Amino acid sequence: MKHKTSEGDYILGGGMTGLAAGMSSGLPVLEAQEAPGGICSSYYVRPNDSERLLEAPADGEAYRFEIGGGHWIFGGDSTILRFIEKLAPVRRYERSSAVYFPEDRLYVPYPLQNHLRFLKPDVVTRALKELAVPGNGFRTMEEWLEGSFGHTLCELFFKPFHDLYTAGLYKEIAPQDAYKSPVNLNKAIDGALRAVEAVGYNVTFVYPQDGLNALAQRMAAQADVRYGKRVTAIDVEARELHFADGETMPYRSLISTLPLNQMMEMTGLSVEARPDPYTSVLVLNVGARRGEQCPSEHWLYIPRSEAGFHRVGFYDNVDHSFLPRSHRPESRERSNGFGNQASAASIYVERAFVGGQTPPTPEEVLAYADAVVQELQGWGYIGEAEVVDLTWIDVAYTWSWPQSKWKSQAMKALEAHDVYPVGRYARWIFQGIADSIRDGFYAGSSFAPQMAMAQVKERAAVE
Ligand SMILES: Cc1cc2nc3c(=O)[nH]c(=O)nc-3n(C[C@H](O)[C@H](O)[C@H](O)COP(=O)(O)OP(=O)(O)OC[C@H]3O[C@@H](n4cnc5c(N)ncnc54)[C@H](O)[C@@H]3O)c2cc1C
Repeated sequence: MKHKTSEGDYILGGGMTGLAAGMSSGLPVLEAQEAPGGICSSYYVRPNDSERLLEAPADGEAYRFEIGGGHWIFGGDSTILRFIEKLAPVRRYERSSAVYFPEDRLYVPYPLQNHLRFLKPDVVTRALKELAVPGNGFRTMEEWLEGSFGHTLCELFFKPFHDLYTAGLYKEIAPQDAYKSPVNLNKAIDGALRAVEAVGYNVTFVYPQDGLNALAQRMAAQADVRYGKRVTAIDVEARELHFADGETMPYRSLISTLPLNQMMEMTGLSVEARPDPYTSVLVLNVGARRGEQCPSEHWLYIPRSEAGFHRVGFYDNVDHSFLPRSHRPESRERSNGFGNQASAASIYVERAFVGGQTPPTPEEVLAYADAVVQELQGWGYIGEAEVVDLTWIDVAYTWSWPQSKWKSQAMKALEAHDVYPVGRYARWIFQGIADSIRDGFYAGSSFAPQMAMAQVKERAAVE
């Protein structure tokens, strides 16, 4: 469905946020790539091939992967979940995740602090003595970790994991997203003795039956998306967009879903505060023969790995539809902890890099991919690899310096020129798919009345 547009207002980026904004406003969405969804995009690769297919082949003989690694829809307003469900029917899953200590081949269910009974008794005693209810006033993430989880658990897991996850930045950046790993002393004591109920922000999650692509494509079908339009510069004084294909286009105002740092660069605007840091993520998707030790969890947090990755996820432990048809077990039911009888595994592996530094060379990336496959083979997770496929996500996780004013100053500077940042990367926040869609709808709807007014005027002129 194509909407009429109000002249001169545009949305930059056709990821989940931009698509939602496009649906609720009717404004044109300018997207650099030839497909919608941004980092929420599935693709397919046949065993022993390297070509990425946008659709599942008719014979079903392909691994389904995602550009940004496993993207599970957690949390979210019930109205947004209803919207997603209507457009792309979903299945619901109960999270099964753990911390994996490779040196001891030990799995401790997530979150670690609520399952201390899996650790040695002396570690449990020390950890319980040191656990504290987190307060405020921690300057850095490192201080927050020490102050919340105590020295023993920090040395065992929290520090080495955050070192990998933030590419070393955790010593300098402000604490962030404490809700992801809640500390509750009573629960920790309980969990030292017996099984406790699951906690955290993603206890259950949903995923579209036909893949995440189906959601993006169905949203795009209800918006006016213009593909292949990569913005390279924005003249905020002349109100002109410049594109990689050489075209320029006047605009009146913009909803931007592009990363805040890139918008500041493209507009040439500057603010006093020092720009906040970010991390890039190299996502390695692997399709392989299933190893005997391959776990049944949906994903694992890794505090130490030879190759430097911090998370390994198992797409097909969530749903067997991620496997080529002939590799699926007889029963297509989810395994969800009951053992996975598939003959293959579909895996994503994430490694973080400090954003803005020189990215790894193609040779380094290939060497890394080999090292990951060998490490996963060494852990008994996989046998022979049939597909190894990589994606570099330049701005993946956004962080802040302690007391930083950069984000608010940068957003104000853009808004002063009628450029409105919306979504996870544009507003420099931690946010999942459902909240990105909600914010896109919200931002887009504030442009909708202008569109309605323009249509009224247009109709009046015709009559
Ligand atoms: C490693 C990782 C794992 C994640 N896992 C989950 C998860 O399990 N569950 C969950 O809910 N969320 C997850 N997220 C978050 C989720 O990916 C985001 O909430 C969501 O993708 C944000 O969508 P967006 O549209 O704001 O941004 P994007 O998806 O980044 O979309 C931006 C769009 O802008 C386009 N673009 C970029 N530059 C230009 C330009 N110059 N000109 C024109 N277009 C341009 C891009 O091509 C893209 O389509 C994860 C994120 C990461 C990094």
